[in-house]
Formats: sequence, C-alpha cells, structure tokens
Amino acid sequence: MSLREKLVEHIRENGPMTVADYMAACLYDPEDGYYATRPSIGGAGADFLTAPEASQMFGELIGLWCAHEWDQLGKPAFNLIELGPGRGVLMQDILRATRRVEGFHDSSSIVLVEMSAPLREEQGERVPEAEWAQRLEDAPPGASLIIGNEFLDCLPIRQFLRGEDGWHEKLVGVTEDGRLTFGLSAALPAPESEDEPGVVREIATGLESLIYEIERRLHDAPGRVLLIDYGYVTPEGADTLQALKSHTKIDPIETPGEADLTAHVDFARVAHLARQADLAVYGPVTQGEFLRALGIELRFKALAEANPAHAERLARELHRLISPEQMGALFKVICLSSPNLPPPAGF
Ligand code: SAH
Repeated sequence: MSLREKLVEHIRENGPMTVADYMAACLYDPEDGYYATRPSIGGAGADFLTAPEASQMFGELIGLWCAHEWDQLGKPAFNLIELGPGRGVLMQDILRATRRVEGFHDSSSIVLVEMSAPLREEQGERVPEAEWAQRLEDAPPGASLIIGNEFLDCLPIRQFLRGEDGWHEKLVGVTEDGRLTFGLSAALPAPESEDEPGVVREIATGLESLIYEIERRLHDAPGRVLLIDYGYVTPEGADTLQALKSHTKIDPIETPGEADLTAHVDFARVAHLARQADLAVYGPVTQGEFLRALGIELRFKALAEANPAHAERLARELHRLISPEQMGALFKVICLSSPNLPPPAGF
C-alpha cells in the first residue's frame, strides 16, 4: 500500500488531519516517508541543494566559528553535535577546518542527531568517528556546540487561515473520488486579531520541545547552538509550505513521501522561546552578514589565489552563499547560548 493510500484510508476512518500530521507522515513514515526512504540532497539529480553542498567555504567558516566558541567556553571536553546532518558534508568540512586547532579534535565527541537510516550510512562514510542519536535528548550530557543547517524547516507546521468569519485550520482531507486535498476546519474559537481575511499563520509544533531540550542542556553545562535556515523575522502572513523534487516546486499534496516538504522558520518565535528559557540570544542576522563577519571574502581570496583554475567556480559559490538574491538574505542565522558567556563570533 502506498503512503497516499494509507493516508486516504486513515482520513476516511478518522477524519481530516492537520497539515503538521500530514507533513510528519510525508517526512517520517518509517516505510514511505521522504527522509526514512529516499532523501536526495546535493549533487546532480538531487531534490535540493544546501549551503554545505554548494561550497566547502560554508563548512570551513562554521568550523572556525566552532573553534572560536570552544575557546570562549574555556576549551572543555565537549560534544560537537549536529542536528540533521544530511550527507555529512558540513561536519566533514568542520573537522577538516579545525584539524590544526590544537586540542579541538581530542576534546570533541562527534554526535549526529539523525533519524534517517540511509543518511546515517552516508554520514558514516564521511565522518567515521561519529556516534548517532535519534533525538537531541539522547546525546550524552556535558558542554556542547550544536549546529543545525536546514533542520528547523523540517519541523511540521500547523496552518491557520483567516476567513471572513474568523480563523480556520487548514486540514488534509479526501475527495469523493479518493484524492488527497486541502480543506478548512469550521471556524475556531480564537482571540480577536487584526489580520485581514486571506492571511495564513503557521506554527511549528515541535519547536517548543526542541527549545526545552536546548534549555535543559545549556543550563546544565556551557554551550551554544547555531541554527541556520530560511525563514522570517516578521511573518508575511503567507503559506510557506513547500515541496521540492529535483529542484522544482511541486504541489505538496500531489506526491506524499516523494518530495522534501518544508516550511519557512519563524525566527522571532525561536528567539522568543529561547529568551523565555533564560538563554542568551544573538541574531538572527542574514547568512550573508554572518559569513561576511566571519571573513568569507578573505577565505575566498586565499582559495582563489591558491587555485587560479577554480577561481571562477569559487566566485560563483561565494555569490550563491552571500548575495541577497541567492541564499544571502532569505537564510538567517541565530545563536542560542548559555548565559554569562562572551558574545559569539559573527553577530
Ligand atoms: N544539514 C544538511 C541536511 C539538511 S536536510 C545540509 O545542510 O545539507 C534535513 C536533515 O535533517 C536530514 O538529514 C534529515 O534526515 C534530518 N531530519 C529531519 N527531521 C529530523 C528529525 N525530526 N530528527 C532528526 N533528524 C531529522
């Protein structure tokens, strides 16, 4: 039975499901979910390209950031944790960039938080020294630096549409001829709002528990979390659910489990929840600002001078990472930190 058929049966028995439940099934269903079975990141023919897949410079600068923050923590033994490491390219670049930082590798235990079995296998090829955890709460205690690139955008969202008669939740239902379709709940008892009809509000359901886990960890032992993703500080009130297959946006309802399904990250909410948890918050700043502050232009110059034959390719990669019309502005970077530490680099 395909995932579509399973979902149709489930909805016929139980009624329409929330967009968050639909997204979770599409991404994580153990037999047919996208990440569980057929994730395709980076390289020709992939569904989407992330910053570490676009350029080695990205991971190298994050590596230097890690070295700097390890120094700020007082050079303890620590967990170097990555949330959703994809093919393992970012961690591989981080480790290469920090090879000559005295004591860094000896002090670190690499923990990859990954639920996808095929991706764990690829990560193991690039980072043989890694250990894995299913969730952040399963990672060993202690001081930590935690990195997550394009992890928050996978958190399933619920969506609410402002109608003429109040708020409705967007739901996934089934048509009479057995197709999946988006629909709306009856009007909800909801507080008054200034939002115009047509506005969509989104809420990532797993964000609170993730921030709670970060809170617990960063109050128990010193640490910092660096999260990089596409998203907004002021929501536009638009529907940001998106499905990508072979670099093309497709209808999220069309091919459950076959496409990467994501939503834009609400950075204002990330910052708000972290502040409520008494964590120090830096940013969000744009990816362009962050990488420039860490010296990506100097890194580019050094690489281009050492490899003139690759200078043009490197210039394209630099442009892709930092220019506002590419990844430079839509992508944002935020750092959550244990309190009472000096400010992190890049903000
Ligand atoms: N960081 C990588 C990959 C981003 S894709 C890069 O930049 O290239 C999202 C990654 O998060 C994948 O590795 C996916 O399997 C993982 N992932 C998504 N949701 C997860 C969850 N709830 N728990 C653990 N890993 C998750």
